[in-house]
Amino acid sequence: MLPVVALVGRPNVGKSTLFNRLTRTRDALVADYPGLTRDRKYGQAKYEGLQFIVVDTGGISGDERGIDMEMASQSIAAIDEADVVLFMLDARAGLTVADEMIAQHLRGKGKTCYLVANKVDGIDGDSASAEFYDLGLGDVHQIAAAHGRGVLQLLRTVLDPL
Ligand code: GDP
Ligand code: MG
Repeated sequence: MLPVVALVGRPNVGKSTLFNRLTRTRDALVADYPGLTRDRKYGQAKYEGLQFIVVDTGGISGDERGIDMEMASQSIAAIDEADVVLFMLDARAGLTVADEMIAQHLRGKGKTCYLVANKVDGIDGDSASAEFYDLGLGDVHQIAAAHGRGVLQLLRTVLDPL
């Protein structure tokens, strides 16, 4: 069985961009995989020799009501069935209430989770990422999904312990 990596985060952080990058080298959409349900988008990623199943979620959308945010049930299910979660954040937008809600949910799960600051192209990634450490979920991995920067290093970090 290949490891299952779920991409989680509020809308517009770049989940689908990363999913497409990881799956575009082959027609990789997976219709069926043992243990996975069908209402999310799965792909078999082959990236620089690394193989895994990647799951794109529609996004956990926090709305203006903030604290009452309803996490999309399919995103929650994607977290549950994954071996590891990439919690994606937008380095340009900074930390939002929705990000904090997702972090709170993830902390409660005890699921292996990596913080990913996306869109660090053309900005100072270190200073943009600094506030994400406040989420208390460990190191922040900087990437630019649209350009591929940092992606291989991230994947090695994530897959190595599996
Ligand atoms: P999703 O809603 O989380 O799936 O986000 P998308 O993948 O649809 O991306 C949202 C927007 O962010 C799109 O306009 C992307 O082109 C843009 N985006 C994604 N990754 C990057 C990146 O690495 N750098 C920049 N500058 N923009 C990005
Ligand atoms: Mg998307």
